[in-house]
Amino acid sequence: MMKTAIKSNTLDVYAIRRQFPILNRKVKDNALVYFDNAATSQKPQAVIDALVHYYSYYNANIHRGIHTLAEEATAAFEESRTAAQQFINASSREEIVFTRGTTEGINLVAATWGRQNIKAGDEIIVSNMEHHSNIVPWQVLCEEKGAILKVIPINEDGELLLDDYEKLLSTNTKLVSVVHASNALGTVNPVKKIIDLAHATGAVVLIDGAQSSVHLDIDVQALNCDFFVFSSHKIYGPTGVGVFFGKKNLLESMPVYQGGGEMIKEVNFEKTIFNDLPYKYEAGTPNIGDTIAFKTALDFVKNIGKEKIRKHEEMLLDYATEQLENLPGLKIVGKAKEKVSVISFVIDKIHPQDLGILLDNRGIAVRTGHHCAQPLMDRFCIPGTTRASFAMYNTKEEIDTLVVGLEKAIKMLA
Ligand code: PLP
Repeated sequence: MMKTAIKSNTLDVYAIRRQFPILNRKVKDNALVYFDNAATSQKPQAVIDALVHYYSYYNANIHRGIHTLAEEATAAFEESRTAAQQFINASSREEIVFTRGTTEGINLVAATWGRQNIKAGDEIIVSNMEHHSNIVPWQVLCEEKGAILKVIPINEDGELLLDDYEKLLSTNTKLVSVVHASNALGTVNPVKKIIDLAHATGAVVLIDGAQSSVHLDIDVQALNCDFFVFSSHKIYGPTGVGVFFGKKNLLESMPVYQGGGEMIKEVNFEKTIFNDLPYKYEAGTPNIGDTIAFKTALDFVKNIGKEKIRKHEEMLLDYATEQLENLPGLKIVGKAKEKVSVISFVIDKIHPQDLGILLDNRGIAVRTGHHCAQPLMDRFCIPGTTRASFAMYNTKEEIDTLVVGLEKAIKMLA
């Protein structure tokens, strides 16, 4: 790392970088420049240590044992629930269900609330910028029930057309399921307005917080959303853990998701009495170690402060936007006024995949392709983009390295 590098005025990015061991590694003899944070973020040493500590010191199954290890593991697991509750300001711990990730959270709603409440002729609204995981479960449900999937269109800048959204809403609308921040464009959607409008017609709202939860302050009570889902691995935590928030009255009335141990109070061959919230939705042994280490990730973010992180990421986004726009033939896809630190682009005559390979040869990790958002790519009539997404540990110097890599690629390929 260059000694002359200027520190961000609010966040000591070099002190933060020292806490992420992977950032010291080389890729093809170059210092790693990790710009694939929207896919998954890197993990600080504290999170890695929390996992190792769990497996080396108090590994045990939870909720059932009375021995010391089981009690310690249960307490740590439940502390993670409290941390997740506080992270999104849910009003109670009962509203926090652990899942495998955002995808499972959405599928859970489709399989439980959806199966119970969606009938033939009902309408579900999503947007044109959804991740496949917020499209396919609803398509499957619509097919099963004879319901209709409607799509909020977007403009050339990648912003939702709210007037069109209002026109789509009717008493037939039963669910609106939209992404808070787009993984492919970075657009931050006006979800509060979307929720209020949906509620005015009596629809229930799910917010996909996979990308927003790491960058923005989340307050599910202020938003008044009915469901909110996100993944640990995008917030510096382990893979395989997600949070599904549902309003208590909905969680109480919805049918169970999976059957098995833990989600029951009593079972006999005539009847099963289900467990209280949130355990009713947590069948089987959960991902204990990763869930425990997830709390360490949330604490890590909290201790640095989301506001500080956001300012740093905004600085990176502004700088990268300015630098990339100057490159010949490069076009940024997604120029919404409100964005998280994601920058997607295409370059004349260069296929994103070729660009990705050239950049990887220089140690720069970007994502190329459709970003699990093929209908969005269709909207822009492109097969895919190259995406650089920034996290708290990224620097301006790394963006300079990307710019040099892009310049060389343009000279070579365009
Ligand atoms: N929704 C959005 C907006 C995403 O960016 C992603 C992952 O990239 C998902 C959903 C799915 O998240 P996961 O793969 O963690 O379940």
